[in-house]
Amino acid sequence: MGVPTTAELENNSNQKKYTVNRTSKGDLVISKIVCGLLVLLAMILIALAALLTYFLLPYCPNEATPEALRKAVVKDGPARLPRSIQPLHYRLQIIPFLEEGNFTTNGAVQINVNVTESTNKIELNINDIEINQHSVAVKRVSDDKSVKVSDQKYDNESQKYIISLAESLKEGDQYQIAITYNGKLNDYMQGFYRSSYIDSNTKDVRWIASTQFSPTDARRAFPCFDEPSFKAKYTVSIARPSNMTSLSNMPKRESVVVVDRKDWIWDHFKETPQMSSYLVAFVVSDLQPFRFNSSEKLFTIWSRRDALEQTRLAMDIGPRILSYFERYFGIDYPLPKIDMVAVPDFGFNAMENWGLITFREAVLLFDEKISTVEDKRAVATVLAHELAHQWFGNLVTPKWWDDLWLKEGFASYLLYYGVNFVFPDWNILTEFIMTEVHKAFAIDSLKSTHPLTFTVHSTDEIRQMFDPISYSKGASIIRMINNFLGERTFKAGLIKYLHTFTYSNARRDDLWDVLTQQAHEDGNLHDDLSIKEIMDSWTVQSGFPVVTAVRNGKRVDVSQKRFTFDKSFAEDTLWWVPLSYTTDLRTNFDDTSPKQWLKKETGKNFEIEANRWWLVNPHQTGISHSSFFMTSSLWIASLL
Ligand SMILES: [Zn+2]
Repeated sequence: MGVPTTAELENNSNQKKYTVNRTSKGDLVISKIVCGLLVLLAMILIALAALLTYFLLPYCPNEATPEALRKAVVKDGPARLPRSIQPLHYRLQIIPFLEEGNFTTNGAVQINVNVTESTNKIELNINDIEINQHSVAVKRVSDDKSVKVSDQKYDNESQKYIISLAESLKEGDQYQIAITYNGKLNDYMQGFYRSSYIDSNTKDVRWIASTQFSPTDARRAFPCFDEPSFKAKYTVSIARPSNMTSLSNMPKRESVVVVDRKDWIWDHFKETPQMSSYLVAFVVSDLQPFRFNSSEKLFTIWSRRDALEQTRLAMDIGPRILSYFERYFGIDYPLPKIDMVAVPDFGFNAMENWGLITFREAVLLFDEKISTVEDKRAVATVLAHELAHQWFGNLVTPKWWDDLWLKEGFASYLLYYGVNFVFPDWNILTEFIMTEVHKAFAIDSLKSTHPLTFTVHSTDEIRQMFDPISYSKGASIIRMINNFLGERTFKAGLIKYLHTFTYSNARRDDLWDVLTQQAHEDGNLHDDLSIKEIMDSWTVQSGFPVVTAVRNGKRVDVSQKRFTFDKSFAEDTLWWVPLSYTTDLRTNFDDTSPKQWLKKETGKNFEIEANRWWLVNPHQTGISHSSFFMTSSLWIASLL
């Protein structure tokens, strides 16, 4: 429970209610001065806890590390692509050269597209790619009729390649765009990049080519419609030296020797399901596979040969967490395999690429002899986060990055369920408040915070969304919904949401509609009320409220006010706040359903049935600071 700030205490005209004097009964004396000092001390402790939480706790899984941000090459952002052309299928062939002095790629892509509105212009995203202009060709799929290219140019500012045509592409027709190009295996961990490690036996440098396309870097590896709503199927082929292996999202269909280079192999992969470009991935390396259990068909973990033994923990818990999520969602994992790769150089903690999850070594490898309990926790939480994404993010994807929390919030929330399943003795669900809610509080109490969802266009703006607001506040409001709707309605709503938008995209309003429908069906929400009305106050407004509850006998007065450390920053944001409580006459600490709501109003009063004590916000399921310094809370203290 939180405390009111000094200013709130000073502004309060009825401070006597914070003073308890029961000397007549001889059991408790707290003067106004002592109470004030205690409050001040508590405030300092909370501020310290918030700062320590922010600076010491590990970054959220998947959040960019300072190293990645420092190395990030971010240009002014791209404008959105027009909606007139929708990609259906990519046929991608790519040859990465991992040779000293030649870290480049040769690529060829054929994109089949559907034209939804006649146009004589094709706009694709590219970044740091050189197009072979003579190769650019457009033809109609139905009769192979060529469409003449009249002009083509780079628009570096918007990270686009624009192809102008002599005639319009017709609405309703399908066309194929064919392009060959040259790219780079860069060393700043974006797009298709190079990484290396030293072989401990030979002391040789071993090179790896890996990918990090999220959020906007598939365009560094191949020309594409690089927005999450442009879902398409991908058929990928990768050429590699015969002493290395290649991996992509899907299993291999076949491998054949490259015609004019006998020491090179083409790996042809099976076609993917409908997916967003940021989830495409490939790895070319001499990393080694390890399977401990021959009956395990889905999972393979790849690491340096020296570190293979350290993949045991991930191999033990990965399949069990995945099965847990399959049962929880009632939807089987949609792909035929999962490769998990410990990449020696990785800018993020991990990336949930569909079927090919990449990790930095520290959050996938675990050495029984020297790793700590905290290391074990990191492996379990990051693994569960990425596996939850296989449904929330990969199967159902936010339509645009302004709703990033719709995948990151869910993965950050559901990871607690996954970890709790494999390590029930950790009681990790009880850590949620300190790890997520207070991490969100620390940022969200600053003037510089931002709403969970807000308009973003540029690559720069999109990258800034990957912060504790999207992850921890996102997870916290999802937990709040779960608690005010109840687990049964919440879970049924999520399953309906996943089924409705499977292999497709969704906005937050789509989730609100499904949850509202489920809540009305289950009788958990008044017919006149929608989840959108409640939750918009949490997603489109920044900050969070401090809720003050004052009890006088049966009457309770509650009020809300935005919480901030900066007293010069006053504003009048109001939220829909679920008020759950329990009393000595109706004691149930696990009942988190709201008995009252603050409906975007500054305050209200109601009556409760209690003799001695009552407790507001048990389990801190609402994400507001609560304060109730009054007789009843001190009674609880005296009972403990
Ligand atoms: Zn994530």
